[in-house]
Amino acid sequence: MNGIDELQQAFGEDVVRLDEAYVKKMSRDYYWYSPVLKKQLDGYAGDCVAVPRNEEELSDILSFAVQHRLPVVPKGGGTGNYGQIIPLNGGIVLDTTKLDKVKQLKDGAGTFGAGITLGKVERLLAETGQELRFYPSTYMKSTLAGFIAGGTGGIGSIEYGTLWDEGNVLELTVMTMEEKPRRLSVCGREELARYIHNYGLSGVILDAAIALAPKTKWQNMIAEFDDWHDALRFSEQIAKDRRIKKRLVSVCAAPLPAFFQPLRPVLSGSRHTVLIQAAPGDAAVISKAGLVHNGKWAAGFDAFLQGKRLRATDFSWNHVTLWHLKDHPADTYIQARFHPDEYWTQMKKLTEAFGDEVLMHVEWIKAGGQILPSSQPVIRYTTDERLFAIMERCREIGVRVSNPHTYLLEEGGKDDWIDHICRAKQENDPYGLLNPGKTKRPGVAGHV
Ligand SMILES: Cc1cc2nc3c(=O)[nH]c(=O)nc-3n(C[C@H](O)[C@H](O)[C@H](O)COP(=O)(O)OP(=O)(O)OC[C@H]3O[C@@H](n4cnc5c(N)ncnc54)[C@H](O)[C@@H]3O)c2cc1C
Repeated sequence: MNGIDELQQAFGEDVVRLDEAYVKKMSRDYYWYSPVLKKQLDGYAGDCVAVPRNEEELSDILSFAVQHRLPVVPKGGGTGNYGQIIPLNGGIVLDTTKLDKVKQLKDGAGTFGAGITLGKVERLLAETGQELRFYPSTYMKSTLAGFIAGGTGGIGSIEYGTLWDEGNVLELTVMTMEEKPRRLSVCGREELARYIHNYGLSGVILDAAIALAPKTKWQNMIAEFDDWHDALRFSEQIAKDRRIKKRLVSVCAAPLPAFFQPLRPVLSGSRHTVLIQAAPGDAAVISKAGLVHNGKWAAGFDAFLQGKRLRATDFSWNHVTLWHLKDHPADTYIQARFHPDEYWTQMKKLTEAFGDEVLMHVEWIKAGGQILPSSQPVIRYTTDERLFAIMERCREIGVRVSNPHTYLLEEGGKDDWIDHICRAKQENDPYGLLNPGKTKRPGVAGHV
């Protein structure tokens, strides 16, 4: 591509890398979770990887890219599931991981560089008696800006909600994609929504101020259930009990727990599980409630995890799918939000229609102040048509589906703020060079 060699000459080989194998590796995320995306996106790659060492260098690279009309795809840890960082038009993969400074840290809030990993943030915060409000199960690799621009919520969302909930993301500094890139200070719910879950389309995040929580020494507990309804009923009770301080209530239908390979010494593998992270002071109440619902607690689970240096979070959220895929690489998943009052009936209807083609996995979260059964059911994949039929049936029975089998932002189902994002893109990226091809909006530069 014209301009790439000049880019390397201008910034040097340390900052701009052209070696094909490396560029290819850096042009991938976890798109292969989807058999549909795998077919569509295999083989796409950028022309180079640029790794700015500071914001000035980043600004110069963006300016150069605009002058030469080179596409730019911002990249953090590359753990996204929808091919978000896969360049569809070549150009520059912008590795942001060197922008990893702690800019400000005080009680209740911190400002960090875009490329800092959430694992590092969590470690640093522990020294100040604080922790992240919530984080994705990929937090060891995932970056702060990658989470904000590509994620939704995670461990802790049961208490604090998602990225869109007010008071979680406080302020962003964003750089525009123009000859003379501007630095924007963004705050306020509607302004922030122009950059949350935007796939990097409307600007490059330089840093983010986020709210923090006081540190809790969480206790991990897991109970097994013979009956799926017992497991769900128990999980709902814990999720909705405001007196119980918790960070995670994760429910997996059998046989999903059988694939948690490192947990085999403590799980039967044949039952449904409820995994909980709660404050130690609440463990006794939770334990008793579990027994009332016929749960069998795995004794010494917390100590087992510590002894094996395992993280409970590795068995929640989309890590559940990952364990299943290790044994069944052809399978996949969907993202479904069941109705809080009708989820029993909705799940029953799905089971009637598809049997064990749909393996239930529920993460209880708070969204807009309401406790909801958010779900990432694992799907035993046969054909694309069947996969889409399952998602269609979900919609017919009132389950809200976020389609993880598309790389188009508006088709992914989290499109409440799509107009805001597209307007910001038009203002900040007049040539449509940021992650082109990830929106189909006519009139938006860089649309498919
Ligand atoms: C096993 C597994 C479990 C997961 N669990 C969760 C979960 O619990 N919750 C959840 O929300 N997600 C989850 N995900 C999805 C993903 O891991 C997270 O959303 C993660 O936070 C993405 O961060 P990242 O740094 O890897 O982003 P990347 O994949 O590198 O990028 C994601 C998006 O952000 C954009 N981007 C990156 N940096 C910038 C920047 N500086 N400015 C502008 N745009 C930028 C990219 O262009 C891309 O569109 C999971 C994925 C896997 C594979």
